[in-house]
Formats: sequence, C-alpha cells, structure tokens
Amino acid sequence: MSQICRLRVSAWFEAAHSLEMMPDGHPCQRTHGHRYEVTVEAMGSVDQKTGVVITYEEMLEKLGTVLSELDHRNLNDVRSIGETTTENLCRWVWKRLHQVGLNRISEVKIQESPNTCCVFRNE
Ligand SMILES: [Zn+2]
Repeated sequence: MSQICRLRVSAWFEAAHSLEMMPDGHPCQRTHGHRYEVTVEAMGSVDQKTGVVITYEEMLEKLGTVLSELDHRNLNDVRSIGETTTENLCRWVWKRLHQVGLNRISEVKIQESPNTCCVFRNE
C-alpha cells in the first residue's frame, strides 16, 4: 500500500500587470489587475513518527513569504517573471518556493479569474 499523501494550501494576492505581447487592442495589453489565488500541493511519504508529510503551517508560511513579494505590485516590475502570463507566474512561484526551502512541491495552480487558471507540474 502506498503511503504517499498530497497536501494542498491556498493563499491569494492582488497585483496589476499587462501583457505586452498581446495584439493591439487586446484588453490584456492594457494595465489591469487580478486577485490571484495560488494553490500549492506538496507530496511525500507520511513520517511514521509524526504522522505528517509536512505541516500546513510550514507550507502556508513559505507560500506567504513568496506571495508577499508580489502582493500589491505591478508584476511587470518583477523582471525575473518575464512576460507576466499565468504560466510564467506559476514557474516563478515554484522556483521561489524551492529557494525558500519548500522542496516537496508537486503542483502550483494559479487561478486568475473565476474562469481561467494554470496548473504547473514539473514533469
Ligand atoms: Zn491579466
């Protein structure tokens, strides 16, 4: 029997951006804002002693640290994201979470509107 569990935590931030590569007249080319909801999944074996893979508190703390770098900013000013698509944003969040020590990530999902989201897995 597999002892692998997947844990998910969610947090959100608000930010502005514009997608300059969009064709002229496209609404996403103009500066606009989103309330981005970010869900991070960590996967791993359950520790026999503690009964957990990782604590939700640790995941939420590290996600909060990373998202505070984006909250209430113009994402176009965060040069390391590149073009501020949801795809690139997922990859940026993934990378930053690793840099702050959250290494068991299996998925980053960013919902930028009720109808649109990107799910990133490093497969
Ligand atoms: Zn947008």
